[in-house]
Amino acid sequence: MAKQQFKAESKRLLEMMVNSIYSQKEIFLRELISNASDAIDKMYYKALTDDSIQFDQDSFHIKISADKEKRTLTIADSGIGMTEEELERNLGTIAESGSLAFKKETEIKDGHDIIGQFGVGFYSAFMVASNVTVLTKAFGSDQAYEWESDGVEGYTIKPSEKAEVGTTITIHLKENTDDENYDEFLEEFRLKNIIKKYSDFIRYPIKMDVSVQKPKADNEEEMEEHIEEQTINSMVPIWRKNKSELSDEDYENFYTEKRYGFDKPLKHIHIKVDGTIRYNSILFIPETIPFDYYSKEFEKGLELYSSGVLIMDKCADLLPDYFGFVKGMVDSEDLSLNISREILQHDRQLKAIAKNIKNKIKNELQSLLKNDREKYETFYNSFGRQLKYGVYSDFGSNKEDLQDLLMFYSSKEKKLVTLDEYVSRMPEDQTYIYYATGESYDRIEKLPQTELVSDKGYEILYFTEDVDEFAIKMLMQYKDKQFKSVSSGDLGLDNDDEQNEKEVEEHKDLFNEMKSILGDKVKDVRISKRLKSHPVCLTAEGEVTIEMEKVLQAMPDNQNVKADKVLEINLNHDIFQSLKQAHENDQDKLTLYTNLLYNQALLIEGLPLEDPVTFTNDMCKIMN
Ligand code: ADP
Ligand code: MG
Repeated sequence: MAKQQFKAESKRLLEMMVNSIYSQKEIFLRELISNASDAIDKMYYKALTDDSIQFDQDSFHIKISADKEKRTLTIADSGIGMTEEELERNLGTIAESGSLAFKKETEIKDGHDIIGQFGVGFYSAFMVASNVTVLTKAFGSDQAYEWESDGVEGYTIKPSEKAEVGTTITIHLKENTDDENYDEFLEEFRLKNIIKKYSDFIRYPIKMDVSVQKPKADNEEEMEEHIEEQTINSMVPIWRKNKSELSDEDYENFYTEKRYGFDKPLKHIHIKVDGTIRYNSILFIPETIPFDYYSKEFEKGLELYSSGVLIMDKCADLLPDYFGFVKGMVDSEDLSLNISREILQHDRQLKAIAKNIKNKIKNELQSLLKNDREKYETFYNSFGRQLKYGVYSDFGSNKEDLQDLLMFYSSKEKKLVTLDEYVSRMPEDQTYIYYATGESYDRIEKLPQTELVSDKGYEILYFTEDVDEFAIKMLMQYKDKQFKSVSSGDLGLDNDDEQNEKEVEEHKDLFNEMKSILGDKVKDVRISKRLKSHPVCLTAEGEVTIEMEKVLQAMPDNQNVKADKVLEINLNHDIFQSLKQAHENDQDKLTLYTNLLYNQALLIEGLPLEDPVTFTNDMCKIMN
């Protein structure tokens, strides 16, 4: 029988596994028990939903046994088993399992750490094994198969004998070394400990033969050693337990065991509802964004259980898109086991649960914001963008829910602030909530348009993400205060209007001239009310701002939407005198200056120059 080679990426992982540090090795048992439990879940579900299958509740269990002579540990389950093809596919490569996600993570983080914290499934057996055999018989098949591997060279699969459906995994422990004692994993006490620590809530009994001292039958005074089969785990799913019985570590273990993420959860939410709707749920807000979050492959959703039986891996209908990062599970006795995906979508109970869950998440985030600002900011840096999409999508129907969770960088505070904080600090004479858009905080800081508003002593919110302005347009106002871009036509500041009108009249000719030089590139050329030290800036009139134009132009199906741009000139800047003189004496010079100023304004805004060659030639002309 020919030996099959492991796929390259599996090999790498195996190497890392084998070399992992000793203290992390115990998690191999958690991984194998978790797989056994998954396999029994599948079998149990089949049995419950198919009347033709006879089953005995007691037959669903996991048995752990150690053999000190042979130095083997076996994990046997009465799960669904694997066919020959499944053995090949599931244990020959890593691609099918959660381990794939792991592999990508390791490219960023230190691999050893991850093994200890999270484990990586079946392969973790090779942390303690010199050799592993998997004897398995699939449900509905007469033939059993045996997979065997030393974890280095590859693996073999051959037909074998097995009476019952299910899987038995046998681990031959590695030889002890000076600092690693693998025999530990044959000790009853140690095994019990590991099972309690990681697998207590597994729904099926994890059984072990343990030795107990009992009085002798013929002589009650003397004790005698008996071997007795015991169930080690409490079998109460963690979500049925009381919050008071559980520690943060229990929740973290559950998060890891369920492979909800490769990070640590930032926050858990344990919900028990027992009223018109009934459900238990444990939800997690992850700390970091999953690497595939913004890819097509990412699927939001929660695990869905019906009275403790898993009926769906990722029930998308339980989470709104903007909370798509939330992980976890829901168990309800009100859902039928046989419910199909299609029917589930329209199920009233499910809708009620989803709504309830949405509110719980919202409230939890709000209290996090109030009580643990630092943690909230960690969360917001990962998922704030998602909340802003939430405000914007579905025609703004969720904006009320989300507006108080938003944060933006403040020109005054130099950190993220909420809209509520902004509004409560507004001076009495300030009408609007001001914002400025740009690529980075640094660049916005230098925008000429911010000058006047800042000088007034008003706070400005800095928008650096493309979704920001769209979200704000959807909000329209917050606590009766409208939003206003520092680049918008009318800033809503009371300037000396009469003075301005006089000036407009006085320089009308010059500005008309400049407008005709620029043609339809701009809607107008005007005297600026907002500039103080800078010569020019571009602003936009109407609904589409310059920043929105940039975002829309970058979209694949851009409709060539453009902002109505206005070139603003600062009358108090020296350049204005030059413009006036050129206007009076030298038409060519006015054309040159006007084009240069326009192009400079484009550059400041971060917009592309329409004709960079002419621009540089114009610059040279001036230098000469
Ligand atoms: P994961 O559990 O994340 O899928 P693993 O590496 O732990 O990744 O397992 C890989 C796959 O091997 C499982 O998805 C499952 O299909 C199969 N498998 C592992 N152990 C068993 C088992 N005891 N019974 C049936 N199938 C199993
Ligand atoms: Mg697994």
